[in-house]
Amino acid sequence: MNITDNLLSINPMTRPGKKLESVKKIIVHYVGNPTSTAVANRNYFERLSTQTERYASSHYIIGLEGEIIRCVPEDEVAWHAANLSMNYNSIGIENCHPDKSGKFNDKTLNSLYEMLTDICMRYNLNPTDDIIRHYDVSKKLCPKYYVENESEWLDIKKNVQDRVDLLRNPVQESKVENIVYKNYVVLPEIGLNLRQYPDISSKKLSSYKYNAVIEIGEISNGWGKTKDGGWVSMQYVKEAAINTTKYAVIPRIGLNCREKPDIKSKIVTSYKYGSILKISDIVNEWGKTKDGYVNMKYVKLM
Ligand SMILES: [Zn+2]
Repeated sequence: MNITDNLLSINPMTRPGKKLESVKKIIVHYVGNPTSTAVANRNYFERLSTQTERYASSHYIIGLEGEIIRCVPEDEVAWHAANLSMNYNSIGIENCHPDKSGKFNDKTLNSLYEMLTDICMRYNLNPTDDIIRHYDVSKKLCPKYYVENESEWLDIKKNVQDRVDLLRNPVQESKVENIVYKNYVVLPEIGLNLRQYPDISSKKLSSYKYNAVIEIGEISNGWGKTKDGGWVSMQYVKEAAINTTKYAVIPRIGLNCREKPDIKSKIVTSYKYGSILKISDIVNEWGKTKDGYVNMKYVKLM
């Protein structure tokens, strides 16, 4: 992260030179002037020192190329929140944007993520609660796009929360050679979520399909760590001694067994409703029986 110091001169309208009391929040803004650069916005703030109507500034401005300008030191007050107490207890970040929608481009967003993560780490803030929009303080339509698109605002905070979580609880390098993985079968018909941490509220990384066989090593507090590097709740899996795992045929009309794991491949035999099959391997959604392959959608774990 590259920050350029281009501090405003000390003056009552933009940089009063007063000490910040604390950093409890980070307030995100948009400049409201499409295509303008970070330095142009910095210079606009500087020009406000020659008038007496408008108080405005921020600690940082992030530009369209992801560049970051520091206008006011973090331990001083900037005028950005339209709320005196908030101005004395927060850091303000202005963001440039390419068009009227106010949506930030990827370069700006990336710098914003890094900036927010860094500030949260240094002041021990919690991104979900402590990163707020100007709108959340004063109902001003700022940052416009992220007031109008709440879910994208939540995505920004989530992204930073994930980064902060990772820095605070680094994922331990697994001692691969010592971990014995066992096979487990996914029980719920709707499948099973793989999460970043052993916690139901942590980020969903992907999901496993019903009847998928997953390899689990470490187990802790009812959560199993899979070889794919995430966690699943152990209540939704069942240990599979794979070559002795038995499945029953579900469809009343029976189930075709095919030569290859492919719906178009030749039928070698068919199993009656209720037949018990031993499946020795599962590839995608196809299970290998002694005769061929069956679609795992039509069998039920015994
Ligand atoms: Zn604002």
